Amino acid sequence: MCGIVGYVGPRQAYPVIIKGLQRLEYRGYDSAGIAIINGKINLYKKQGKVADLEEFVIGKNVQGHTAIGHTRWATHGEPSDRNAHPHLSRSGEIAMIHNGIIENYISLKEELTNKGYTFKSDTDTEVLLNFIEDIYINNGGNLEEAVRIALKRVVGAYCILLIEQKNPETIIAARKGSPLVIGIGKNEHFLASDASPIIEYTKEVVYVNDYEIAIVRPDELTLKNLGNEKQTPFITELDLELDAIEKSGYDHFMLKEIFEQPKTIFDCLRGRLNAEKGYINLSGVEKYLDEISNAPRIIIIACGTSWHAGLVAEYIIEETCRIPVEVEYASEFRYRNPIVNKGDMMIAISQSGETADTIVAIEKAKEQGAIIMGIVNVVGSSIARISHTGVYTHAGPEIGVASTKAFTGQLAALMMIAFKIAFYKQTISEERYLHLCNELSLVPEKAEIILQQNDSIRLIAEALKDSSNALFLGRGYNFPIALEGALKLKEISYIHAEGYPAAEMKHGPIALVDENLPVVFIATKDVYHEKIISNIQEIKARKGKVIAVINENDTVTPKLADHVIVIPEADEIIAPILNVIPLQLLSYHIGIARGCNVDMPRNLAKSVTVE
Ligand code: GLU
Repeated sequence: MCGIVGYVGPRQAYPVIIKGLQRLEYRGYDSAGIAIINGKINLYKKQGKVADLEEFVIGKNVQGHTAIGHTRWATHGEPSDRNAHPHLSRSGEIAMIHNGIIENYISLKEELTNKGYTFKSDTDTEVLLNFIEDIYINNGGNLEEAVRIALKRVVGAYCILLIEQKNPETIIAARKGSPLVIGIGKNEHFLASDASPIIEYTKEVVYVNDYEIAIVRPDELTLKNLGNEKQTPFITELDLELDAIEKSGYDHFMLKEIFEQPKTIFDCLRGRLNAEKGYINLSGVEKYLDEISNAPRIIIIACGTSWHAGLVAEYIIEETCRIPVEVEYASEFRYRNPIVNKGDMMIAISQSGETADTIVAIEKAKEQGAIIMGIVNVVGSSIARISHTGVYTHAGPEIGVASTKAFTGQLAALMMIAFKIAFYKQTISEERYLHLCNELSLVPEKAEIILQQNDSIRLIAEALKDSSNALFLGRGYNFPIALEGALKLKEISYIHAEGYPAAEMKHGPIALVDENLPVVFIATKDVYHEKIISNIQEIKARKGKVIAVINENDTVTPKLADHVIVIPEADEIIAPILNVIPLQLLSYHIGIARGCNVDMPRNLAKSVTVE
């Protein structure tokens, strides 16, 4: 959450920063702001989107070659002009932007208030900035040293960028827990929360580590630790194309990302799954195969949509590998006193690889002797770096705030892991293994067929758009898909929706059913099929509106349901990865029909780097 961008070099900084902020807007859109040095620091900030900032600066002086910019997801203080970043220090000579939360800001604020400081905003950020300036005043105006000393007192997470009037060609940056990438150009540097603002200028980047401070000048990048020792920057080449972060003709990123799924799932399987020869090769996992197979228990931790992928994995791993699995919300796991034994395995799932709660949960389990496997999308992200082993989902940048292609990528990765371990442990037969490999390899082309239903799903969405509630029901492997369908609808259309195991509806939610309630059933062919048909009958008997996702040869459900979405059949273990796609499209079209901003839903942001 929160996008930060910085530039030092010969170009005019304003266009670089604005374009960067547009690319990072998925990380927060409560306000946007920019500070540019041109003799003095010119500061412009505005509540709302980056477009509101652009309008605000029309006719103002945005000249300058050093600048920092921010797009905010508010944690401390309401979204407003006043609370927008960058913040200016009391003297007006230092400007700072921040991604994260300073947990001990109240005590720091008290200290500063006792010294006579007053604050213009409600943010934790302004407190840290003035805390830095207070040290700066007493140390003879050495900003780098002031930052280093201040950060030793900070509890919490941060990525901060600072500029000072008297050093117009320097940005000081530091991080702990929030991401920072620095792009290296010719006599210029670009700083950002992720690589998307950098990609069109350079492919050479440095991922800054926790507890590092970067002193960035046009022709020089110096990295130091908090002990003031120089660190060698590790330069990597970006593997990212510009096209991947643009809408490429689609109206919305969400739609583009839904439609990319045949390719992204293929990319996840490519080079790893060979159905013909019958092998799965996961390079990161190979050397841990014994440990994983012998793990007495697997704990899966995740948040949001990734947690739903974890639930699907629980069903699949227990069925195929016969290892007990628990799925936990990272935010719950980290604050209780969980039992983790040496040799337990933890699978941590996160699109961004930066989810704050998941990172802390990993650290906690690691301390207690667990082996950590990260399932992340963003290469080089924090979770990828702190895990023992892992599998990248290779879904490409996901910019729509509601996760779609990252989820199916997670499922594809988790399925490969489960089948590989099951075969290694011999808890499934070779025949079953080959069948599952083959079924998984067919997912991209079946996903393509599902996407051809886009127009008919749009018509169903029209019929549902005025509902105020909805229920999503599924059994077995499709129960988590019901949860995901409900979450997608909530996020995108603001319709209240709940996902339930279909049999559980009799224990409560059935009371909601009347002629106005749409009930979406995931009713593809599996061992529960007849039971789910009975559940559909129960809803119809109470006049609910039934929308059913079914397979091609189902002749019974179409007679019962008000609307059906017909998709290709797959083995029931593989089916969840396909079954979610029509639900993504349904939410998308309902959101559009209701006039919602589907790429930037209210109050949400991507890459949840705050706890
Ligand atoms: N805590 C800061 C604020 O509220 C930054 C928030 C964030 O990084 O999401 O402004």
